[in-house]
Amino acid sequence: MEAQLILFIILTIITVNFVIERVLDYLNRQNKKHDLPEELQGVYDERRYQRSLEYQQANDRFSAITATFGFAVSVVLLLGGFFGWLDIQLRDWITQPIILSLVYFAVLFVASDILNLPFQLYHTFMIEERFGFNKMTPRLFFIDKLKGYALTAVLGGLVVGVFLYLVMELGQSFWLYFWGVATAIMILLNVFYTSVFVPLFNKLTPLEDGSLKNAITAYARKVNFPITNVYVIDGSKRSSKSNAFFSGMGSKKKVVLYDTLIEQHSEEELIAIIAHEVGHYKKKHIISGLFLSIAQIGFTLYILSLLIFNEALSLALGGQQLSIHLNLIAFGILYSPISTLTGLMMNVVSRKNEFEADAYATQTYGGNPLQKALKKLSAHNMSNLLPHAWYVFFHYSHPPLLDRLRAIRRKAIAS
Ligand SMILES: [Zn+2]
Repeated sequence: MEAQLILFIILTIITVNFVIERVLDYLNRQNKKHDLPEELQGVYDERRYQRSLEYQQANDRFSAITATFGFAVSVVLLLGGFFGWLDIQLRDWITQPIILSLVYFAVLFVASDILNLPFQLYHTFMIEERFGFNKMTPRLFFIDKLKGYALTAVLGGLVVGVFLYLVMELGQSFWLYFWGVATAIMILLNVFYTSVFVPLFNKLTPLEDGSLKNAITAYARKVNFPITNVYVIDGSKRSSKSNAFFSGMGSKKKVVLYDTLIEQHSEEELIAIIAHEVGHYKKKHIISGLFLSIAQIGFTLYILSLLIFNEALSLALGGQQLSIHLNLIAFGILYSPISTLTGLMMNVVSRKNEFEADAYATQTYGGNPLQKALKKLSAHNMSNLLPHAWYVFFHYSHPPLLDRLRAIRRKAIAS
């Protein structure tokens, strides 16, 4: 009985979630206007703007189809007791509980990736291709996939293996220990992101000496921000969308610029983009973001520790006995309303931080180059100019372009 109630709650959660997402998508689609806002005339040319609407429409339609497919598959699998069935099958072959869970997740991972493969291929080679974003060849696509598999097998296997070992050895207090492990991993990822993880997928080359490098160092010196090196990343190998980020801590900070960013922006705009990133550092957003994530992980683990040994969760998914991996899947769904809420709060903070970083760049460098850079970035990435306010509230980690431009102008006038 308790198991049936849990299954009912699980089905309710995924249904409500699916409906909310479809409503938000609908509102967002209705909100699109076909007239170009006055601020953006000259940046988005009319033809390109229409094209960006077509791009969003293609993506909207695509994500509606994938979400519906995913929802239908989940409901069928849950009602059919598939997750428990798979557990029962594997138990005939494997008795060691940790190996059993790892194999269970590996089977689910590969099965779901194969199921999603047609969608991924369609998205990359039909939609992105049609709008000129895709730079990936089918060969590179599959090499990336294999690299991703290898990384998931090694890192994921290690993390999940250590986690299951701790859970079984330590009982309910595992959450405290695992929180410690997770915190250490997050800090290491942060420190070694550019030196270890990025080079696995992309090539980093130091920016050659010249006026751009001089201008970057001059700005960094002016705002007292120690930069040890500026790197260029070959982002154009995969996508022509552009980006910039920082890595490292203390006095060993590195700036990484996408080659595509350098091609498309003037020197002045590039410094404004870097000034925005420096703003995130100076306002301690990186550190506070890290702390927030660590607090969030601690909370999640605590709730998990309350549910992970409850046999009713396994039975709800069709199992015949307590299975940690079944409980993890059930937990993933049962916890999602809470994670939606914490995600909302994180987005609120993140959008506030973006305004602050823009304000910092406006004060220390200038509002005009930043506005130009943001407009170009948005035009180039074909971002949605008029998302619905609710959609922004739920999903946007960055404020919409027009809001940012208005805030920058207000700041420029005030200072
Ligand atoms: Zn930012």
